[in-house]
Amino acid sequence: MNTPSTDKIRNVAIVGHSGSGKTTLVEALLARAGVVARPGRVEDGTTVCDSEPEEIKRTMSLSLAVAPFEWQASDGETYKINLIDTPGYADFAGDLDAALSVADLALLVVSAVDGVEVGTEAAWAKCAAAGVPRMVFVNKEDKPRADFHAVLDQLKATFGSGFVPLELPLGEEERLHGIADVLTDQGLEYEPDGKHHAEPLPADVADEEHRLHDELVEEIVAGDDEQLERYLSGEVPSAAELERTLAHEVLDQLEFPVLCGSALTGVGIDRLADYICELGPSPADRPTTVLAGDGDDAVTVEVAADKGGKPLAYVFKTVADQFVGQVSLFKVLSGTVGLDERLVNTSTGTEERMHGLFHLRGKEHLTCDRVVAGDIGAVAKLTDTGTGATLAPKDSPVRVVPPPPPTPVFGLALKPLTQADDDKLSGALQRLLAEDPCLQVERNDETGQTILRGCGDTHIAVSLERLARKFGVNVETEDVRVPYRETILGRAEAEGKVKKQSGGHGQFAVANLRVSPLGRGEGFEFVNSIVGGTIPKQYIPAVQKGIEETMATGGVHGFPVVDVRVECYDGKYHSVDSSDMAFKTAASLGLKEALAKANPVVLEPISLLTVVVPEHNQGDVLGDLNARRGRVNSTRSLGDGRTEIVAQVPAAELQRYAVELRSMTGGRGTFSVVHDHYDVLPSHLEAKAKAAASGEH
Ligand code: GDP
Repeated sequence: MNTPSTDKIRNVAIVGHSGSGKTTLVEALLARAGVVARPGRVEDGTTVCDSEPEEIKRTMSLSLAVAPFEWQASDGETYKINLIDTPGYADFAGDLDAALSVADLALLVVSAVDGVEVGTEAAWAKCAAAGVPRMVFVNKEDKPRADFHAVLDQLKATFGSGFVPLELPLGEEERLHGIADVLTDQGLEYEPDGKHHAEPLPADVADEEHRLHDELVEEIVAGDDEQLERYLSGEVPSAAELERTLAHEVLDQLEFPVLCGSALTGVGIDRLADYICELGPSPADRPTTVLAGDGDDAVTVEVAADKGGKPLAYVFKTVADQFVGQVSLFKVLSGTVGLDERLVNTSTGTEERMHGLFHLRGKEHLTCDRVVAGDIGAVAKLTDTGTGATLAPKDSPVRVVPPPPPTPVFGLALKPLTQADDDKLSGALQRLLAEDPCLQVERNDETGQTILRGCGDTHIAVSLERLARKFGVNVETEDVRVPYRETILGRAEAEGKVKKQSGGHGQFAVANLRVSPLGRGEGFEFVNSIVGGTIPKQYIPAVQKGIEETMATGGVHGFPVVDVRVECYDGKYHSVDSSDMAFKTAASLGLKEALAKANPVVLEPISLLTVVVPEHNQGDVLGDLNARRGRVNSTRSLGDGRTEIVAQVPAAELQRYAVELRSMTGGRGTFSVVHDHYDVLPSHLEAKAKAAASGEH
């Protein structure tokens, strides 16, 4: 592949709802460009972008994939288009963020049959938040019930103004045979090989097309004072001039061109590639904002994609390749990154050598000796560089701020199958995390569990399949144990006594303890109110230690004891047989007895849950929260058709909320959860809690 010039590079994220045809569209573009002999099929597992076994099994994209190709556009210039296919499923939204962090254009794929779906809305919102220019491709125009006009209306109704149709389908559904080019007023008829020739417009679309053409010209010139003036004085700008103006409006995210066709039959595919080149921004149009300097002194600066500038690369994705190990995908933000160049990871300070530069196309490695500003490249085996890192020359502390990973909403505890799996687990998890920053691993010392958290059950399931396939580590999963605690509701006294005098040196200690409840969250208070030295001062620390250790290891119900005041008010000792050990044991025995008499109860963690759902789901979601023993603090309309509900809900009831809320709201509900406080567990649930805590079900 030739080294392109920066202004001829187009980095395009393909985004949209799962099943809208993104992966098939990438195949169609690659086939039309002659990169693959014939397009692969998602169902056969033969596509360039869905190459991982987990993706083939599920026939869906689970991580982003890049597919570069060269394209000679209708303006006669040759471009390099880097397609970045993204997963449409919400569990893998982190990769959508990563793709958008390097894309200069997002191509929103919408099915002409299904229209705007939940994944379409989610992708649009992310593109808007990331400030990425957008274009829409209405796909599946060949399918029964395809309806371009309905989709266009829906786009405008859902997302607002700015959608400009540049094409109309000629004969929808199985009669689809071409497209009307609104800008040039032409009909384009397609051959089975995906090539087209111009024909006069069929009579049934000619009128509509002419009306749209006039509207389009007016819409475009309205964005350019000079063209508007000429237009008003009766001069119609040429198609090339209109395209140039529209390209500026696309860059400014004022207009969103809408194209159409079929990834399956090839209609409209070459025109899509043309428009990506002619209307899509180049990396040179979109400088990157980076942080320069250290700590509080850091300032934001804009870096232009200038191939003569200082080399600067941003690692937006790391993948584990079975043959070469870790592969870092990067975008060159400025300068040119050459083979064997030494750059520094500005987060860790580690010097990295760029040996073995290549471009990835699906799984294929296309070697190269340099990657210029704006282009996407790959390098294997960096020593200490993960996703989100910036590589810069020595003494150039510049950092790209990566998009924050989505907050994990679902977790499972991992149980290695064998000792060998156990030994390899933590290293393998670390590598998995370097690949996917949306995963989190947590070791809970209290419950002894290793917990893997992510964006949903599928995300975790797929990650565990990768753990087994790539790193040979097999695990079973179990629910995350809820960290229950216990406390007392009453007051009590007890005497802890150790007396052992069977020959030789004996053991003797007595500690009289009084326990009383503290307020929730106050923890533990130890009071020494011994008078007259009934327990000599030097043994008091041992008494306290015995109490603290017993509280930590578990009280009457077997859970750590909290919110208790323990007073040691009396005791006895023996000048020869008493020891620290004896007092520790006596205190422990005394505490256990006192707690048992003081109405011990189990405490459960209560989370503060914030849920945002479409208004029409509000009733169901509130009813469901009630069934989960939730207490609603507030409900509030957000004014955009959604309601925010804030509630206190026991953590034990939220284990699978990510999955259940998704099914309750058709994927439109989102939530966040933070620990709030501990509260008394109803006594009829105590047995269940104890069973869950010991790993039984
Ligand atoms: P993705 O999840 O968005 O990547 O969608 P896929 O590319 O996996 O496509 C989902 C399904 O739609 C597959 O069965 C494709 O064969 C089918 N499909 C994709 N594009 C078209 C199209 O233009 N026309 C028709 N009839 N089917 C299509």
